[in-house]
Amino acid sequence: MTETSGAQVAEVVRDFEELYGSAPQGVWAAPGRVNLIGEYTDFNDGFVMPLALPHTAVAAVSRRTDGVVRLHSADMDGGVVRLDAAGLEPLSGGGWAAYPAGVVWALREAGHPVTGADVHLASTVPTGAGLSSSAALEVVTALALNDLYELGLTRPELARLAQRAENAFVGVPCGIMDQTASACCAEGQVLHLDTRDLSLRQVPFDLAAHGLRLLVVDTRVKHALGDGAYAERRAACEAGARALDVPTLRAIDHSHLPDALASLDSETVRRCVRHVVRDNERVERVAAHLAAGDPRAVGPVLTEGHASLRDDLRVSCAELDLVVDTAVRAGALGARMTGGGFGGSAIVLTDESVADTVAKSVQEAFAQAGYTAPRIFPAIPSAGARRLL
Ligand code: ADP
Ligand code: MG
Repeated sequence: MTETSGAQVAEVVRDFEELYGSAPQGVWAAPGRVNLIGEYTDFNDGFVMPLALPHTAVAAVSRRTDGVVRLHSADMDGGVVRLDAAGLEPLSGGGWAAYPAGVVWALREAGHPVTGADVHLASTVPTGAGLSSSAALEVVTALALNDLYELGLTRPELARLAQRAENAFVGVPCGIMDQTASACCAEGQVLHLDTRDLSLRQVPFDLAAHGLRLLVVDTRVKHALGDGAYAERRAACEAGARALDVPTLRAIDHSHLPDALASLDSETVRRCVRHVVRDNERVERVAAHLAAGDPRAVGPVLTEGHASLRDDLRVSCAELDLVVDTAVRAGALGARMTGGGFGGSAIVLTDESVADTVAKSVQEAFAQAGYTAPRIFPAIPSAGARRLL
C-alpha cells in the first residue's frame, strides 16, 4: 500500500486512541521524495528538482499543556518514548524518536510555545532507501504542531526548522532539499527549488500524458562508506568555494567552469566542483525541456548526471551502476542514482510501452550478479504534506 488510504488513517487513529486513551486532535501526512536531478547541490546553494512520492508518514497528534512529549511509531519496537519538552538536548541519542523530538526542540529554540504533544505515526516510506523517510517524519511532525499550536509558519519555514532538527538535534548534515520537497511538493509537479534563496516553482510533470513512466529502483543496499563520504564531499565543495574565493559553488557559472577548474590544485576538489557546477546546469536544462513540453529529452540528462556522480563525485556503487547500465541498454530513455548514493535508489525514465521490459531486465541483472532483488515501483508525482483529518 502506498497511497495514503482511508484505512491507513483509521488505523493510525485507532492505535492513537489505544495508546493514549483519547482521540487525536488531528491527522497529518508528509511524503517521501525522489530527486529528478540536482544531486549534492543543495548544500552548495544550488538547484534541485525533487518530486513527492505517494508514500507518506502519517501522524495522529494531540497537543499537551504539561511539557510532556510522547512519541510512538507503529513501525518500531520499543513502545512509547516519553520526553520532557523543556529538557530536550541535541545529539542525546534516542534512535528514531530524535527526528520528531528534534522538531519540537527546533520549534522551541525558535521561540514557539510548544508545550508538549502526543504523537503516534506510521509510514509507508521505505527507510534508508534514499527516499527521505526521515524528512517525512520531521515534516509531518512540524506541520501537525504548526496547526495545533496555530504558529502560522509557512511551508518553507517548516522545512527550515525540520532541517535544523536533523542537522543540529539528530546530527545529520543534510541540505534543505528533502524537507522542502516533503513540505512543498504538489501533485503532478516537480519542484524547482533554488536553495540559495529558497525560491520555488512548481513545474508540471505529466508523465502519463506523454506515455512515460518514472521508475524508482530501490537497490536495498546501503554501503557503510556512505556516511563519511557525504561529509567528505561536502568538505571538498567548501574547500573549492574557498579556493575560488566565492561564498558557495553556486557562484561559479557553467560558462566559467574551465577557468575555475584550471585554477584548482587538488584533483579531488576539482572533481567535486565540476560535478556541482554541471549538475546545477543540468537542472536548468531539465527545467527547459519540461517547459518546452519535451519530457523525453530529460532522459539523456539523467544518464549524464549519473556518469558525473559515478566518475567525478564518486558516490555511486556497483548496484546503482548496474541499474543505470541495464535500464539504458534495455531501452529506457535515461537513468541515474538519486539521493546520497552508496546504495539506496536509482530512478529510470522510460516509455510506458517498455517499462515492464526495463524493470524485468534490471531484476534479472540483479539476480545474475547475486544481489538482493531490488524493489521497483513507479514514482507518481504526489502531494506534499497535508492535514488529513
Ligand atoms: P532516509 O531518510 O533516506 O530514509 P535516513 O537514514 O535519513 O534514511 O532516515 C531513516 C531513519 O528515520 C530510520 O533509521 C528511523 O530512525 C527514522 N524513521 C524513518 N521512518 C520511520 C518510521 N516509520 N518510524 C520510526 N522511525 C522512522
Ligand atoms: Mg534521510
